[in-house]
Amino acid sequence: MATHKLLLLPGDGIGTEIMAEVEKIIDFLGSQDSSVTFEVERDLVGGAAYDAHGEAITDAAMAKADAADAVIFGAVGGQKWDDVPYEHRPEAGLLRLRKDLDLFANLRPAICYPALADASSLKRSLVEGLDILIVRELTGGTYFGEPKEIVDLADGEQRGVDTTVYTTREIDRVVRVALDLAKVRTNKLHMAAKWNVMKTGVLWQKVTTATHKAYAPDVELNLILADNCAMQLIRNPRQFDVIVTDNLFGDILSDEAAMMTGSLGMLPSASLGAPDGSTGRRKALYEPVHGSAPDISGQGLANPIAMIASFAMALRYSFGMGQQADAIEQAIAKVLDSGLRTADIMQDGKTKVGTEQMGTAILQEL
Ligand code: ATP
Ligand code: MG
Repeated sequence: MATHKLLLLPGDGIGTEIMAEVEKIIDFLGSQDSSVTFEVERDLVGGAAYDAHGEAITDAAMAKADAADAVIFGAVGGQKWDDVPYEHRPEAGLLRLRKDLDLFANLRPAICYPALADASSLKRSLVEGLDILIVRELTGGTYFGEPKEIVDLADGEQRGVDTTVYTTREIDRVVRVALDLAKVRTNKLHMAAKWNVMKTGVLWQKVTTATHKAYAPDVELNLILADNCAMQLIRNPRQFDVIVTDNLFGDILSDEAAMMTGSLGMLPSASLGAPDGSTGRRKALYEPVHGSAPDISGQGLANPIAMIASFAMALRYSFGMGQQADAIEQAIAKVLDSGLRTADIMQDGKTKVGTEQMGTAILQEL
């Protein structure tokens, strides 16, 4: 009898609307399989938490996140909170979760559903059946390295400085995550870095090679220069399965891969921490890539697919429920095949539906 602890943090804007569709699926799965119980907690985050408590996430909510097996996060932010103090802005809630739970591995799948292949920025023949997983290191590298400053020089000149820093440990732990993922997918991993011009690149190359050899030598490992990787993603994206890379390259490559799949409303993500020494469980947070979409919130128009697909990732990566995750993804594909579309993915001749109808259709297919 497995009990899975979930913390639902719907947040602001469309976050609450799309979370409602995930709750339907949680209830369904719980009722379906008597050997699985979902223990669901809920709390506020972002602007909603600021309005209630004066901060973007409370210590109490953080304690729940810490105790949960997976945090399911909607979206935060909106004009209403444009003028709140910087440390209390809605995004601070998400940043605290990432930092305090030490979620260093950001997983961004780029899956092209056949029904949406024509919405891709590439030709259908290139993206049909595309299923890539980018693993981006999230807590180190150029975005966090010190010094980070703008220095005044003589004569009004200034110098901007960012510092790219990685340690062996930081690289090793994210490469392990990527190798674990490769093992449950097609056993193939690419590591993208610039070892030809960067010292951190040399370290990424060295550590990846060593970790692969010691930890998962059966996985096919390919080292690829990050610029070549960007090019190959456009030229022949299906040659990739899992790609692991640093924070900066991962930011760029994951956006590039995302545009092959259609709309922002389709893209899920996961952020994982290190496995616990005794239980082997990882801290994990699952969220759609998109934001709170203030322009459409409250109207029942949001596409719930990114949120539902994020929950499918939780089933796969936190709960070992890969079959159920596959079933959800297949249900999404079938509903798209049947012609239902939310406004963001609307195409000629298709049937326009709202958030709730889309969620219900996926549930019924499931
Ligand atoms: P953030 O800074 O939080 O990323 P943003 O304004 O950059 O916010 P989003 O909130 O993701 O980005 O919205 C960008 C655009 O995409 C908006 O026009 C929004 O309506 C649309 N959009 C985002 N998510 C969805 C969704 N799930 N369904 C439909 N449209 C969406
Ligand atoms: Mg944005």
